[in-house]
Parts: sequence; structure tokens; C-alpha cells
Amino acid sequence: PNFRANNFSAGPSSIPEEVLTVVQRDLFNFDNTGISVMEMSHRSKSFTKVFKEAEEDFRKLYDVPDNYYVLFMQGGGTGEFAAVYLNLINSKVIRQKQRDSSNPLKCAYIVSGSWSKLAKKECERLGGQTHLIVDCQDSASGKYLTVPPVSDWDILPTQDLAYVYYCDNETIGGLEFESDSVYPHFDNSVPIVCDISSNALTRKVDFSKFGIVYAGAQKNMGPSGLTVVVVRKDLVERDSIAQSQINPLPGFPSVLDYKYFVDGGFMPHTPTTFSIYVCGLVFKYILQKGGVDEMNRLSVQKSSLFYNLIDSNPQFLNNSIDKRYRSRLNCVFTLTNPSLDSKLLQDAANNNFFEIKGHRSTGGFRASFYNAITVNQVSLFVEFLSKFIQENS
Ligand code: PMP
Repeated sequence: PNFRANNFSAGPSSIPEEVLTVVQRDLFNFDNTGISVMEMSHRSKSFTKVFKEAEEDFRKLYDVPDNYYVLFMQGGGTGEFAAVYLNLINSKVIRQKQRDSSNPLKCAYIVSGSWSKLAKKECERLGGQTHLIVDCQDSASGKYLTVPPVSDWDILPTQDLAYVYYCDNETIGGLEFESDSVYPHFDNSVPIVCDISSNALTRKVDFSKFGIVYAGAQKNMGPSGLTVVVVRKDLVERDSIAQSQINPLPGFPSVLDYKYFVDGGFMPHTPTTFSIYVCGLVFKYILQKGGVDEMNRLSVQKSSLFYNLIDSNPQFLNNSIDKRYRSRLNCVFTLTNPSLDSKLLQDAANNNFFEIKGHRSTGGFRASFYNAITVNQVSLFVEFLSKFIQENS
């Protein structure tokens, strides 16, 4: 009954067992109410406490500055692809900058993998004028293997830009930026937007460098449903036109509008109560384990174990991503002999290792080592792979 898999899923993904145990304990009777969190009004006293503590603990973990809101929204990463554009283009700061309506400000994207590419596409779908700063896709392989040097980036003058967008860790391709590699190249007058969906709570973020930082919960934080958005307060202000019902952009749903959340006391409609509750427990768990710096240390330890195995077996395993940009969280690899692919999947399953198949768009393999994955689990997997290599070489 207590069978647990080594689950290396890219998301939704593993949740710490310590947290699952608390959830199980509380499931029928939370906070002595005789009601579970998922059956409880979001306005109830018990849930209000859960909500407040989750926000406080998130702020504590990341040391979020006071001039930033932390919003608990829905719609996932995909919702935010639209939300960042709609919010910024309607914000007072950007509208004041946009003097010449015949020459719209550009929404500038660094494309380092599938998710940033989709974010740019979503902006275009909504009528945004995009600008490609750099496309990191390798034309020969179609893979994202490195980030070209900044001298090759097409950086427009910041007065022409609405915002700069990038994805800190690309979950599918396995390319992760170094923590301070993007923002030094833009001046403070342009908000930088960062998607940290798959490396949230795995290392420090200097929020003061960013306009918006967001993450879907379903990788490092808890169950899917919740999207955490950290947005600089001045970017949520509107001018009198955008404030009124004569919205300059038709089609801006309230559910994606940061101002709707701020004005509605951060809970203007029913939030994803159960996801917030579990994420709140994960926040407490991480605080207790030593916080974000400790998660970074463990992430480096886990991914190093794994990449060492890859690099010491080049005749068998391959990850051709520039070592500087290899993701600590999503370790992708291929077998030099792909006819062994299905055998590896089968043997892995027989040894209790699951969800290691690469994304359907890329093939190959991907093992995701988020915060809930222990160093021991990665060691066991590395041991298993070493044995697989010996037996099949
Ligand atoms: N950004 C990143 C980095 C992701 O990994 C994902 C999903 N895995 C998304 C955005 C899209 O998120 P969602 O599926 O929640 O819409």
C-alpha cells in the first residue's frame, strides 16, 4: 500500500512525501473543522489563514521586495503568456511610453526553447508587435544547445520596447540560463519578464531586476492549478483611459488582469484552493529544509551526478547542450543507439524509475529532478543507468 515510484516527471511532478503525509492526515478533517480543504469556502477562516500563510512563506523564501505584489492566479504558464502582454500593454507606464500609436512598442522575446517560442506566438495571436532578440535554436539539429553571445543579439533601443521576455529554464529542451545572465543587458526603463515555471524555488531571484516573474506550480511547488505571479507594483497602475471601461484593448479577461486581483483583495474570485494549500505546505517544507539556497545546492548536486554519468559515457549517452546552459532541473539525453530506447524504458520501469521519456516533440529521454526528488533517488537512477550501460555495451 505504501508503494512509491521514483517519478522523474517534468510536471505535474513529485511532491515531497512529508507533504503528502500531512495532506493525507488532513484530508477528512482540516483544522478541526470536519471539512477537507477542497470542500471548504475560500472565504472561510481556515482557508483565509492558509492563503495568507502561503503568500507570507513564498515572500520569505524568496525575500520578495515590498514594492512587488505576489498574486495567486490560474491559467498556468499558458495563461501568463497572454497575461504578461495584456497587463503590460494596458499599464500606465507602458501607455505613457507609447507616444506614437502608428509605431507600437515592441514586445521583445529571447527564444531559448519551446515555451518562450509559444509565449511569443501567444503575444502575436493577441495582436502584439513582437521583436525577436535572439533565437537560440540550432538550425542543423533543431535543438536549443546554447545561447549565442550577447554581441549577436538584436537589442533595440529601450524606448522602442514594451518589455523583454525570456524563460529562465526551458523544460522541454533542458536549457537553463545562468542566474544573472539576461538582465544586465537591458536598462531599467524596460520591464523584464521571466518565466520560472520549471526552476521556481531552486535558486535566488533578484526580483528588483524584473517587472514580472511567474511560475506554474506543478513542478517545484505542488499540484497544477496555481500560478504564482510576482509583479512590480507600479506596473499594475492604469491611466484614466485604461482604467475606465473603454479598455484600449478589447479582450482582456478579468481573470488574467493583475489589477483585478489587487483591487479584489488578492482573491477576487475562487482561487485554486487545494493547490494553494498543498503549495503552502511545500513552502513550509522548503523553509524548514534550509530555503532556496539549499534547494540550489541540492539541484547542483543532483544534476552534476547525472551529467557526470553522461559525460563519462559518451559512447552510450549524449547531451549536447553547452555545459554552461545545462538545466539543473530537466536533464535531457539520448542514447547513441536509439534501438535500445524501448529497452531502457522497460528496464527503468522494472526497476521503479518512471516518467523518463523525452517530450513528445523531441523524443529521447528527460529526467526531471525538481525539489521533491532526493539526491538518493538520483544516485539510484545513476547506478541503474551505469548497469544498463555495462549490460548493453
Ligand atoms: N513555461 C514553462 C517553462 C513550462 O514548463 C510550461 C509547461 N510545462 C509552461 C510554461 C506552460 O504551462 P502550462 O502547461 O501550465 O500552461
